[in-house]
Amino acid sequence: MNSQATDKQKEAAHTQVDDVKLYINGQFVDSKSGASFENKNPFTNKSINRIAEGREEEMNEAVKAAKQAFEQGPWGNMKMEERMKYIHRIADIIDEEIEDIAFLESLDTGLPISQTRKQSARAAENFHFYARMVQTKLHGESYPMDDEFINYTVHEPLGVVGLITPWNAPFMLETWKVAPALATGNTVILKPAELSPLTANKLAEIVHKAGVPAGVFNVVHGFGETAGGTLVAHPDVKAISFTGETTTGTIIIKNSADTLKKTSMELGGKSPLIVFDDADLDRALDAAIWGIFSFNGERCTSNSRVFLHKNIKDQFIEKLKKRVANIKIGDPMDSSTELGPLIETEHFNKVKKYIEIAQQEGCEIVQGVVPEELKAGNFVPPTLLLNAKNDMRVCQEEIFGPVMAVIEFETDEEVIQMANDVRYGLAGFVWTSDLKRAHRVAKAVEAGMLWINAQNVRDLRIPFGGTKDSGIGREGGHYAIFEFYTEPKVIHVAIGDHHIPQFGK
Ligand code: NAD
Repeated sequence: MNSQATDKQKEAAHTQVDDVKLYINGQFVDSKSGASFENKNPFTNKSINRIAEGREEEMNEAVKAAKQAFEQGPWGNMKMEERMKYIHRIADIIDEEIEDIAFLESLDTGLPISQTRKQSARAAENFHFYARMVQTKLHGESYPMDDEFINYTVHEPLGVVGLITPWNAPFMLETWKVAPALATGNTVILKPAELSPLTANKLAEIVHKAGVPAGVFNVVHGFGETAGGTLVAHPDVKAISFTGETTTGTIIIKNSADTLKKTSMELGGKSPLIVFDDADLDRALDAAIWGIFSFNGERCTSNSRVFLHKNIKDQFIEKLKKRVANIKIGDPMDSSTELGPLIETEHFNKVKKYIEIAQQEGCEIVQGVVPEELKAGNFVPPTLLLNAKNDMRVCQEEIFGPVMAVIEFETDEEVIQMANDVRYGLAGFVWTSDLKRAHRVAKAVEAGMLWINAQNVRDLRIPFGGTKDSGIGREGGHYAIFEFYTEPKVIHVAIGDHHIPQFGK
């Protein structure tokens, strides 16, 4: 819908969609108990539909189906080329249905539709990319030992893997896990976030349409402790790939210990963006604004802490203020909207509370204005916390909303020290025209991913993930397929008559 849409069209874009079922063993089913939960639209806070709620029984059934599909079904024994046809087909269907996916994602999450369209295209690319990568790059090693042995490795799928995902960019993040998991030959249970179930259901429909055999891909909607908890503790699930809050990650690691699961943790962030006085200030400004206000500020790699060199601080802040006042707050279905409502009322209250805390801690608050007609939604205006100090709560805790803390610095050493004085280590952004400084600072900042004079763009071939409390392990590129979704097996072959000790002869 464009910005000229009539009120009727706008209303139609927010009407209900069908109730959502679980997808288990190739079928869309209700939960056994008939339990379901309400799914709300963050723009109106009205109900969109009801979602079937999976609990222990449904999760056990999904794991059983996935195990069977892996051990006895065609998936485990399928020729690689045939399996990749399914993966490419999934990507093709996503491409055909981008508009539908973007609509559902924006309806469910409040993310602006111009952004969910791009994310959906990226999701299709995740499948094409992993089909290509597994076919061309998932190789082993081989070591001939003189004329006696050859040792070689093969990378085998793990079996049933559990994927637990958040609500902030649901479809893209889900496909990011599902694509390498399936391409490497695993079978999958996806437990999407309870606040954003629509596009996970859409993915189930797409996988179904692509003809993927029953049990290979399952979606069990439900809550963290019940549906998620059962998946994490299940002895037949070999690995859990999790993206979400750091505290949830620690619980999942503990709960997966009894069954010795492999886990991958993509967790929270509080990433610094550093602007030196020799930087291209206009580009740094564009990047700083985009980095915190895109995705409604609900972005793990957002630059929630912006460090400004004292020589350019005042002029930069003046420009920040103008831009913040101009950000287009509106209906997520409107193509021109830049900032939509937050995911739910509870999160909206949490973000508002942090703005109050910032005020109490001594920050000057500068905000855009939410138009009166949007008051039914969970809108927090784009917000600057000026005169922030790095040890304030608002600079140490993840707010996960459109809130930028602005901190002054003078020396390289001082800004590196402040950038690192935080529990998280996901991302960082450095803006300077001094090449040596750029590399030095990028190396010194404790984070899994650093960008120099660039916003948050990434090539699918490189690793994604954080250090410190931002995660364990890396996804993306060949890391996902070599280090997580497969297990290396070593095969030793004797090709000569090597010496064998003659015990008891
Ligand atoms: P969350 O931790 O509340 O929930 C994530 C998922 O975990 C949901 O599906 C939830 O149902 C499930 N869950 C909750 N408790 C569980 C339990 N005990 N056992 C098993 N599963 C459980 O996170 P959220 O609020 O949905 O997402 C926001 C968070 O995700 C932010 O902290 C953000 O930084 C982080 N995130 C990180 C990355 C990254 O790549 N590092 C990317 C996106 C989001």
